[in-house]
Amino acid sequence: MLRTRNIAAVLACLLIAALAAGCGREGSPPVKGPKAEALPDYTVDTGFELPESKTWKKAKRRGHLVVGAKEDQPYLGEKDPATGVYSGFDIEIARMMAASLGFEPDTIRFRTIASANRETALQNGQIDYYVGTYTINDMRKKLVGFAGPYYMAGQGLLVRTDENDIHGPQDLAGKTVCSAAGSTPYQRIAADYPEADLVAYDTYSICVDNLLTFQVDAVTTDDAILLGFAAKAPDEMKVVGKPFSEEPYGIGVPRSDNALRFALNDALEENEKNGNWKKAFEATLGLSGVPAPTPPPIDRYPAN
Ligand code: GLU
Repeated sequence: MLRTRNIAAVLACLLIAALAAGCGREGSPPVKGPKAEALPDYTVDTGFELPESKTWKKAKRRGHLVVGAKEDQPYLGEKDPATGVYSGFDIEIARMMAASLGFEPDTIRFRTIASANRETALQNGQIDYYVGTYTINDMRKKLVGFAGPYYMAGQGLLVRTDENDIHGPQDLAGKTVCSAAGSTPYQRIAADYPEADLVAYDTYSICVDNLLTFQVDAVTTDDAILLGFAAKAPDEMKVVGKPFSEEPYGIGVPRSDNALRFALNDALEENEKNGNWKKAFEATLGLSGVPAPTPPPIDRYPAN
């Protein structure tokens, strides 16, 4: 009996050790993503006040911010299933914004919101702001406000490493392509490449599972997202071709809250100047092989 239990304990230890090591090959990218020790420390602006912003006032009264994000996008917005901790470049942007708005790091609550539900979440006040690969465009500007952009991505294609026929969107005719419902990449394929057999799921990680199990031939969304998935499984998947759109990432805010939008634009500019933006990028999205670019100019469109 004792011996059986010992064997079971040894096996359990081996399993735990294997899991802790990430079961990865030597030299493969870190499975858990961001290098925590390389992340910047954001100075909390303790005296900050924004009485003109309804969203800010409500969050202050409540004692914490509620920030919408993604939880399954490598190096951008990832939630550790064991600890519930969110990490990635978008999460860092959310944290630096919170510090500028006068919120301590332990007063931010992240909430996962899928691409198709972002506008409603902002309109219903379920979240105070949203940071999650959210493209700024005129259609969405009718429904929500956008601070930024803080990064410029472009649409791309992810395929299995053994795929030799797909090099760009022009090769998608008759192929099954997966994207997220309510996303700009989905809309672009539907409008410009009608010969593709397009399928939609709530998230890109479901698309990636479908790619790996041969249910679809390609996954399409922003290169920033696809490169992260490819970096985590380089033997299985590759990003092909050149980006075929411009996807400027903004911070979504309630449409009428111009005060919050302006404050976030100021906060972004300051963090780009003081080096926090670059440091945060290098410790997160930079790990998927993208060198830190110059951030795009901020679009300070007038109050609506
Ligand atoms: N940036 C694109 C969008 O906002 C695709 C990524 C996403 O779905 O979050 O629709």
